[in-house]
This record gives sequence, structure tokens and C-alpha cells, in this order.
Amino acid sequence: MSHTAAEPLSAAASSKPPFDLTRLRGDFPVLERQVHGKALVYLDNAATSQTPQPVIDVFNDYYSRYNANIHRGLHTLADEATAAFEGTRESVRGFLNAPDARQVVFTRGTTEAINLVANSWGRANLAPGDEVLVSMLEHHSNIVPWQLLAREIGFTLRVIPVDDNGALDMAAYRTLLNERTRLVAVNHVSNAFGTVNPVADMAAAAHRAGALILVDGAQAVPHQPVDVQALDADFYAFSGHKVYGPTGVGVLYGKRELLEAMPPWQGGGEMIATVSFAGSTFAEVPHKFEAGTPAIAEVIALGRALEWVQSVGLAAIGQWEQTLLAHATSGLEEIDGMRILGTAPGKAGVLSFVVDGAHAQDIGLLIDQLGVAIRTGHHCAQPLLHHFGVEATCRASFAAYNTLEEVDTLIAALDRVIGMLR
Ligand code: PLP
Repeated sequence: MSHTAAEPLSAAASSKPPFDLTRLRGDFPVLERQVHGKALVYLDNAATSQTPQPVIDVFNDYYSRYNANIHRGLHTLADEATAAFEGTRESVRGFLNAPDARQVVFTRGTTEAINLVANSWGRANLAPGDEVLVSMLEHHSNIVPWQLLAREIGFTLRVIPVDDNGALDMAAYRTLLNERTRLVAVNHVSNAFGTVNPVADMAAAAHRAGALILVDGAQAVPHQPVDVQALDADFYAFSGHKVYGPTGVGVLYGKRELLEAMPPWQGGGEMIATVSFAGSTFAEVPHKFEAGTPAIAEVIALGRALEWVQSVGLAAIGQWEQTLLAHATSGLEEIDGMRILGTAPGKAGVLSFVVDGAHAQDIGLLIDQLGVAIRTGHHCAQPLLHHFGVEATCRASFAAYNTLEEVDTLIAALDRVIGMLR
């Protein structure tokens, strides 16, 4: 089904969605829900996006028609499940413009994808004296795996700073890169502030210094087209549940020669070629990294989610989210004592803020009573929030299905609860 309206795409500032928004919202049963007697306004999309009916339907279809373990069966159900599972690998390849579907490894999510790189590539390639660069903007999942490994191996973790807008300090980045740098691990879009990092430029600089780059794309793939070849990313990770797909599944893309040279990180069924008590040999990529029975229905549903998102169009989604962001930003700026954190030019549809005299958690709890779901807390980015002198922010984050009326409801709800808290 196409959601594209007959009209051509209008300018970024247009208040008209570049797709049939009413029809698109009809794909999401949860948007019919009431919360505390009010229509749900779901603005926690950076944590998890909602799921369209065609993706939900995959689970019913899979478990009622062709539930079977993949790859090793010769019967019809196993064949069908394997074909659907491997079909998603090809969908992900197209979605990321990866050269080959064998460069797509299924994981439980972004977190597991990064841990895979740390435990496989990192253990094989990092030594005392080496340096790994992460940025101040990272989610904990792109900090802690490197800290755990650094503690064992003794390499140094260095941090790329940000400016007052929450944009990466690229001059500092270039200074930090040196002949000891082995890896740059950076997010494409920050979940806490919405900063969009110049990852193609960062990759070029990393490569000039002889380092690899791992890009955490969890917050990028739902909002903009991503081409891993154009970025020249060595590794690129994302999660299904933030791109209209299910939880429990994610992707690690890697350059072929890197994946082939990397050792397995988990042992078990599916990842072997031969096993004897004298020793084992391993399967080719990507199966070498996919030990055990994977989340079969989830992988198939991820493929359906990517089809859905592509039928709407990522450029159109990104454009609409910019309209929502601009409208929300101007509404928030009217609120007395409001401080928006993360004001980097070209940021994505994530709006983090604190308000004088009203604690973020209290705001979150109270506006939930009005049906509005936002996130409050440290957003798994404690170093960044501490750098900006706060423990917690409120965060509204947008998706394709959000409306300008929902943004108005958010602003009105904030006005009301902040008045109550002061
Ligand atoms: N990286 C970023 C930028 C994120 O926003 C998140 C989730 O919020 C993650 C990584 C972790 O994703 P997951 O919990 O799906 O593994």
C-alpha cells in the first residue's frame, strides 16, 4: 500500500504532511487507545516506535501457518520459514544499500550488535596502548561495552567533546585522531538531543588516520535514508523496534573483509561448519555470528516493517518530523523557564528540555494523566546530561504518525502541569 499523496513533496516548512497522514495513522491500532480517559498522544518514539498492522500480522501468520526452525529442516514449513527469514536479510541489504546480504548479521538489537563488534573485532584487534574514540553523545550501549573491554585489555577510551548546542566538536575530533586510534564508535543521531553527526566526514577522517568506524544508527534509520556505502561505515548497527518493527531483533552491517576476519563471539548450533571433540570449524558469514535459534518471527516482521517504512518514504518521514519539531520548538519556547537541550543545526525530531521549578519526572507523570506519553530521565546518556549540568530531561520524540494537533496537545498539557508544579 502506498501512503504517498498525489501532490508533490512540499517545502520542509510546510504544515501539510507529504503523505496521507490519516490513512497512515489507520495502520496503527494503538493510536485508537485512550489513556486515563484521554486520546493517547504517543511522543516516546525514540525509545520505541509503534507497530503498524502489517507488521503485527506477521506474528499471527507465522505462528498459525509456518512456525518452524530455520536452515536445518527439509520439510515445507522449515523451507518457508527459512525463505522468509533470509528474505529479510535481503530487505535489510536494500534498506542500507549494503553490497551483499551476507554482510547483514541479525542480533537482538543495537546493543547486541555493538557488543558483538567489541567482543569479536575488539578482542582480536585491540591491544594496550591503542585508543578507541567514542563521543560525548553516546548512548550507554556504545560506552559500556568499550569500558568493559578496555578494563580487560588495557586500551584507552577517549571522548570527542560537544559544543554548547550539543554538536560534536569536529576540530577536537580531528585532533584526537592519531596513529594509536583503532576505532571510532559514534552514533549517527543522538537519542538524547537529536544531534545528527557528520558520520561520512568522520569516517573519512578515521580512515585517513588508519582507524575503523562503527556507527550506531539506532536513531537514524527511522528518520532518514541511510546508505552504508556512501557513509563508508565499517560497521553500522540498528534496532527493529525503533523503526516500526518488533523488539528482540536488530542488525549489524559490516564490511565483508572485516566480518570474514573476525572470530565468532558466541558458540553453538548454526554457527559451525563441523564439530568434533578435537575442535570445530565455523560457518561462513553471517551465520558464524548467529549462534542458536534466532528470533525468527521478529526477523520476518522486521522485513515487513522496512517494507512499510519504504512505502511511506524515509525522506518524506524525515521532512514531516522536521515540521513537527519546528512547531513543537516554537510552542515550547513560549513556556516560561523553558530550556531546550540540544540545539545543533539540522537536528532530528527529538526535543529534550528542562523547566525551572518543575522536576522532569513530575512533568512526565502528570502529563501521562492527560494522555501524553513522553520520556523523562537520563535517556541512557548520563555523561551527556551531566556535561550539561542536569540529571534528567523531558524528551518528546516524533514519528511519521504524529500530528500537529498532537504537538498542540503536548504544549497545552505542559503549560497546565508546569503551572500545577510551580
Ligand atoms: N543507541 C541509541 C542511539 C539508542 O537510542 C538506543 C536505544 O535507545 C540504543 C543504542 C540501544 O538500542 P537497543 O536497546 O534496542 O539495543
